[in-house]
Amino acid sequence: MAVLVTGGAGYIGSHTVAALAERGEEIVVIDNLEQGHRDAVISGKLYVGDLRDESFVEGVFKENNIDAVIHFAANSLVGESMTNPGKYYHNNVYGTLCLLEAMNKHGVKSIVFSSTAATYGEPENVPINESDRTVPTNAYGETKLAMEKMMKWFDTAHGIRYVSLRYFNAAGAHESGRIGEDHTPETHLVPIVLQAALGKRSHISVFGDDYATEDGTCVRDYIHVSDLADAHLLAVDRLRRGEASAIYNLGSGQGFSVKQVIDIARAVTEREIPVVLEQRRSGDPAVLIASSEKARTELGWKPKRDKMEDIIRSAWQWHLSKPEGYGDR
Ligand code: UDP
Repeated sequence: MAVLVTGGAGYIGSHTVAALAERGEEIVVIDNLEQGHRDAVISGKLYVGDLRDESFVEGVFKENNIDAVIHFAANSLVGESMTNPGKYYHNNVYGTLCLLEAMNKHGVKSIVFSSTAATYGEPENVPINESDRTVPTNAYGETKLAMEKMMKWFDTAHGIRYVSLRYFNAAGAHESGRIGEDHTPETHLVPIVLQAALGKRSHISVFGDDYATEDGTCVRDYIHVSDLADAHLLAVDRLRRGEASAIYNLGSGQGFSVKQVIDIARAVTEREIPVVLEQRRSGDPAVLIASSEKARTELGWKPKRDKMEDIIRSAWQWHLSKPEGYGDR
């Protein structure tokens, strides 16, 4: 039986493909390569195409013996989702509908879903629990929440069970050095800080230092991408055991401020990282920290690479060895 990974050429998808390969799973990847990279798929069979293309998806399900799906394929830029929400509803929500329809047609009953802390919006508690209210503050988070809810109704009607994993801030790179983070445009803190360390950017812009946090900059919960990948495998195992649908936060439970991240990156890289203070970025909550107790108890998930220095060091190895990323843009 094969695991279908949609968006398997993207950042978290490709690390999950690597983890699936390490335990000997048969892997099928669908990616339209709009953001993904062919070279990021280090194992499995890659089909280049779009989930909204019904005959293409039909062909993939017919040619392979798929028993579980891990669904990453989506647009994920918060800023873009605010200026072009239609693109996010079309690709993320309609794309997921097409996927679930194909799963239903072919009797595939298990799906692990790549969700996000952005489904919560402004948090009501620190750390955030899965039962907290979900009021997204941007269209990206709203589409991810809509996708989760769609899965709930496909479970009720058709018995397609799901595990939705709400990630906090993914960072780091695979220990092999073969795969890592390469977005165009890059918007995430850790890769931008490291590009500044490499001299590929003149500086890092810090978006606001007047938040109600210890040093005034935003606090986030960073988790190593390979630890996220491991959680997807545990979620597949849960579904294969026939257990019920569930939603889990994935984070370290520890917060680091933007300034702390920059300081750790300076120590790890031993390079200068110039900082320019800028206005707050709209829609940024001051503090986002996960409670991952539920994933730890129910999935048996335990992040292994939980030191922030090590997470940044692994990302730095990747940036040093591949300063141009995959080099395909
Ligand atoms: N951030 C920043 N400068 C940048 C990119 C990000 O100050 O160039 C801040 C951002 O405001 C947020 C934190 O770093 O508080 C993490 O942002 P990122 O985009 O990496 O992840 P998010 O928390 O938005 O998912």
